[in-house]
Amino acid sequence: WKQAPASLALLTAFSRSHGSREFLIYEDERITYDAHFRAVAQLAHKLIEMGVGKGDRVAFAMRNLPEWTLIFFATTAIGAIAVPLNAWWTGGEMTYGVNDSGAKLLILDGERHERLKDCYADMPGLERILVTRAKAPLAAPAEPFEPLVGPTAGWATLDEVGLPPIAMTIQPDDEVAIFYTSGTTGAPKGALGTHRNMLSNIFSTGYGAARMLLRRGEVPPAVPEPKVNLIVIPFFHVTACSAFLMGNMVAGGTIVLMRKWDATEALKLIERERINATGGVPTIAWQLIEHPDRANYDLSSLESIAYGGAPSAPELVRRIHAEFGALPGNGWGMTETMATVTSHQGEDYLNRPDSCGPPVPVAELKVMDPEGKRELPVGETGELWAKGPMVVKGYWNKPEATAETFIDGWVRTGDLARLDEEGFCYIVDRAKDIIIRGGENIYSIEVENVLYAHPAVTDAALVGVPHKTLGEEPAAVVHLCPGCAASEAELQAWVAKHLAAFKVPVAVKFVDHVLPRNANGKILKKELRAMFGAGAG
Ligand code: ATP
Ligand code: MG
Repeated sequence: WKQAPASLALLTAFSRSHGSREFLIYEDERITYDAHFRAVAQLAHKLIEMGVGKGDRVAFAMRNLPEWTLIFFATTAIGAIAVPLNAWWTGGEMTYGVNDSGAKLLILDGERHERLKDCYADMPGLERILVTRAKAPLAAPAEPFEPLVGPTAGWATLDEVGLPPIAMTIQPDDEVAIFYTSGTTGAPKGALGTHRNMLSNIFSTGYGAARMLLRRGEVPPAVPEPKVNLIVIPFFHVTACSAFLMGNMVAGGTIVLMRKWDATEALKLIERERINATGGVPTIAWQLIEHPDRANYDLSSLESIAYGGAPSAPELVRRIHAEFGALPGNGWGMTETMATVTSHQGEDYLNRPDSCGPPVPVAELKVMDPEGKRELPVGETGELWAKGPMVVKGYWNKPEATAETFIDGWVRTGDLARLDEEGFCYIVDRAKDIIIRGGENIYSIEVENVLYAHPAVTDAALVGVPHKTLGEEPAAVVHLCPGCAASEAELQAWVAKHLAAFKVPVAVKFVDHVLPRNANGKILKKELRAMFGAGAG
C-alpha cells in the first residue's frame, strides 16, 4: 500500500513480516501471516473491481471465521468503512444494521444467509450480497463469496500473484469502521471509529502487562512476545477485533478460533494448541473455572486470563490466580472508545480485585456530577467520562445522541464509577441500572459481588423492582453451582452480614441455568426485571 500513514493498511502490511508463522487456526484450517496478507491483498483488489471506494460501507455478518478478518482488513485497507454486524441479530435487526449503515456490499456466512434471505428485498441500498460457506446452492441476489483471484488451492498454498500496489490515500483520522454497541440499555448505536482510534489499542492492550513488569522491577519487551491466543468472544465486538486481534498481529502471535463457545471444547483446544492466553468476558472465565472435568486437561500452557466488557466479582480474580496459576487481567472500555481505556494485570489486579485498572497512558478519566457540570473529587462516585485517541467521532446517523454523549473530546460513559488516589477506576454500576430505594442508592455490582462470594452461588444479578412508596427495591436472580444448595433466607442473611440492611434483596429467585446474556457477555437485566413482573423497562 502506498501513502497509508498510521492506518490499518499499514498494520496489515506490517503483519506480513511474521511470514510463515501461524496467524489463524480454525478447525483444520491453518493460515500463515503470509497467506493471510496475500488473501487480503487479493480481496482488496476484488473490492475495488466491484466498485467499492473510499468511505463506502461494507457490512458483514458471520461466525468467527477466518473470512471475517480477511474482509475486515481488505475493506479498511482500501479506505472503505467496515461494518461488522452482530451475528446474533435477527433478520430484522440485521436489516436495520445494513440500512442504517447504508452499506453497498453485504457478506454473510451460509447460516446468516438462511436467516436473512427473506429480508434482502428490504435492503434497497445493497448492490451485492456475497455468501461464504453456503449450505445449499445460492439463488439470486446472493452470489458465492470467492475472495481469491489466484489459484484457490487453499490459504496456505497460495502462490504470489504479483498484484500492483494499491494507491489509496488514507489518513489517521479517516473513518475505518462502524461497530454497533451491544444494545444492553437501548437500541444499538453505530460508533464511527477512525484508523487512529483503532490503532491506539495496539499500545493500550499490552499496558496492563507492561505496568505489572515495571512494578516488579523488570523491563517489558519493546514489542509484546508472540503468544497463542484462544479468542472466544465475537469479532464483531470491538474488543475482540481491536484489542485481541490487532494486538496479536503486532506481536506475531497465533489466534485459535472456535466455531461457537463451548467450555469443554475450549479446554480441549487449550491442551491441544498449548494456548497461552484466553478470556474476553468474565462469564467465559467462570465457565472454565467451574468446569467439572477441568482437572482432566493439561492447562499448564495458560499464562493469562483477561477480560472486560462486564462487571466481574473479586472472587473470580482470586480463583483464577489460585486455581489456574494464570495471571488475571481486567480492562474497561466501550464501543465508543474502540476498546481499551483502563487495564491492569497480575498483582495490580489481585491487590485491587474490584477495580478495572488505571487509564492507559494515552487516556484520561474524570468523574462528574449527574448533570455533567462539576468534576467530583477523588473517591466520590459519579458518572465516568473518558478522553483520549480511542474516543470515536460520534454515532453514525445520530447527531442528537452524538451531541449528548461526545463533549469536547470526552465521552460520557453512562457508567457510575470512582477513582482512587493512584487513578485506579472502580465501576460501581451503570447509571441506568442503579437502584434508588427511598432515596438510598444501591449499586447493583456491590450486592452482586457479595452474592458471588457465597460458596453456593455461581451467577448473580441484582435488579430494581417497583415499590409503591420506596420507588424501587432490590431483588436478586441467582444460579447455584451444580450440587449446591442455598435458600432465599440464607442468601438474604449472607448479604445482611456484609452490607447495610437497605441493600438486602427483598426477594431471591433461583434459576437452573446461567443468567441470560447478550453476545458480548452482558446480563440482560431487562429480562430479569420481567421475572419479577417489573416490566421490561
Ligand atoms: P448499549 O450502549 O447499546 O446499551 P453496551 O453499553 O453494553 O450497550 P458496549 O459498548 O459493548 O455496549 O459495552 C460497554 C459497557 O460495558 C460499559 O459502558 C460498561 O458498562 C461495561 N463494561 C465494559 N468493561 C467493563 C469492565 N471491565 N467492568 C465493568 N463493566 C464494564
Ligand atoms: Mg453503552
